[in-house]
Amino acid sequence: MSKLAILGGEKVATSSIAANVKWPVVNRAMEEGVLSVLRDGNMSGTDITKKFEAEFAKWNGTKYALAQSSGTSCLQAAMFGVGLGHGDEIICPSTTYWASGLPAMSLGATIVFADIDRKTLCLDPADFEKRITPRTKAVVVVHYCAYPAPMDEIMAIARKHNIKVIEDVSHAQGGRYKGKMLGTFGDVAAMSLMSGKSFAIGEGGILITDDREIYERAMLWGHYERGGDINLPGLAEYKGLPCGGYKYRMHQLSSVVGLEQLKKYDDECAAIDAAMKYFWAGLADLPLGNHIPEEANSTKGGWYACKGLYDPAAFEGLSLKYFIEAVVAEGGQGFGAGCNAALHTHPLFHTMDVYGDGKAANTANLPADANKDINKDGDLPVAESICNYTFSIPWFKHVDRALIDEQIAAVRKVCENYKDLLASDPKEEVKGKFFQTARKN
Ligand SMILES: *Cc1c(COP(=O)(O)O)cnc(C)c1O
Repeated sequence: MSKLAILGGEKVATSSIAANVKWPVVNRAMEEGVLSVLRDGNMSGTDITKKFEAEFAKWNGTKYALAQSSGTSCLQAAMFGVGLGHGDEIICPSTTYWASGLPAMSLGATIVFADIDRKTLCLDPADFEKRITPRTKAVVVVHYCAYPAPMDEIMAIARKHNIKVIEDVSHAQGGRYKGKMLGTFGDVAAMSLMSGKSFAIGEGGILITDDREIYERAMLWGHYERGGDINLPGLAEYKGLPCGGYKYRMHQLSSVVGLEQLKKYDDECAAIDAAMKYFWAGLADLPLGNHIPEEANSTKGGWYACKGLYDPAAFEGLSLKYFIEAVVAEGGQGFGAGCNAALHTHPLFHTMDVYGDGKAANTANLPADANKDINKDGDLPVAESICNYTFSIPWFKHVDRALIDEQIAAVRKVCENYKDLLASDPKEEVKGKFFQTARKN
């Protein structure tokens, strides 16, 4: 019974978790909403999108919401919204999806990567402060894998240095930091709502803010036909054409799904929260980190891309890769070693002359006396090694004790018998990968 499956023993988890982890949940109301938009010939309007924006803003408690075609375009609109441009620097954690920072490049700004904290997997406040220069205009804070970033510390540093704060809430819609909705701390928040995320509406993204100027600038950037909403002096005279951006309107099939998603999302998050906490409770006595926030009233929303934290030292140096292979051999499902590759290691941020300036795009617009020796290998030790300390876990959508117990048993068995693996551990490193093949969803 205790012989590990990877060494020829019998596996402990035999039921498929597929039905429990299935996402998103499409209900009748979504189907009917989509059909009505199709039948009304109303795919490209904005009437339903505006309703969705109003409801989404209300849910978050912000004054404004602006829906767009993707989270990526919303992040760029937020960057344009805060006035990011040539010669400015924007600080972004290195461990995140590329769209958290990369849209700054085509605004002519320089992306300066900062390290993450080993425990939160979010921007490390001390490292953020270290990277600030007189040119730092903004910081992107990612609530990575649904963990609420330490907003008290980050906001204090940002305010002290007069830096605009953009929250990327793509992983954490509906999550809270000390009781307050994520996305409502900074000057503006942007997030993806694509099907893989916990708030899933198809393809799309949304920006939320209380700042009228940021809202109108974002509107001017990508919504040429919504000039009626652009009234501020300095902006109003430019309405009628997209100024700098292009057309980023949300598809109304997405916004109608969003309206329905909003009605059931809080309940879905509660069910996910209960299931994920049941999973971790079953492993509480083992030396694995659960990536659950410790502060009172901090929550993980829909637990997108949920992670466990692994310390090889707790297992006499057993490599994460082999540990996870052993869990999978036990019938573990949804487990995988690693997380996003450290962005600062990609040559795009060092050498590529994207726009034909005759120099590297990321630093092309910095003044001559600015330090261009940034984003170096070895500079961000946590981001560079974190793939060997984090692993994906199954994303349960509701409590099914028997099913979750099997997955707990798979992890438990490996933890309790890890010594049997030490001799055959190939000790391979986990390298975060940039997408080099087409993704499935
Ligand atoms: C998915 C994602 C985005 C981009 O959103 P799209 O809708 O795919 O354009 C941005 N930031 C993070 C952290 C993401 O995970």
